[in-house]
Amino acid sequence: MKRTLTTCPYCGTGCQFYLLTDGNGRLVGVEPSSEHVISKGQLCVKGWNAFNFPNHPDRLTVPQIRKNGKLVEASWDEALDLVASKLKEVQEKHGADSIAFFSSAKTTNEENYALMKLARAVFKTNNVDHCARL
Ligand code: SF4
Repeated sequence: MKRTLTTCPYCGTGCQFYLLTDGNGRLVGVEPSSEHVISKGQLCVKGWNAFNFPNHPDRLTVPQIRKNGKLVEASWDEALDLVASKLKEVQEKHGADSIAFFSSAKTTNEENYALMKLARAVFKTNNVDHCARL
């Protein structure tokens, strides 16, 4: 059994726990960190179950694009090219502030920063917000 210290991805409280993986690298459990200043050896029910979602059979692991009314699997390049072209198309038709970007408390500060830079530097809009304010 391997223990890997990490931060819970479910909310901004930032509890820490150890992800437990078996000899095959499969997540099998969570163990709260007793040393962490916030969690102090405790977790809420979401933290205790954080090891379940990565291997859940319903989890989407590849992008899907709707074609002829049906969702079909696509490559990341194809999906990202489609999103970029649609965003550009909307902006060209309706102006820079016709689109907005919303980030999540379930991502890291660095990912939120990158989204803000994408909105402001690439798409030239200040329409960027975060789910904690919604
Ligand atoms: S264990 Fe619960 S309270 Fe702690 S960060 Fe995760 S979701 Fe938030």
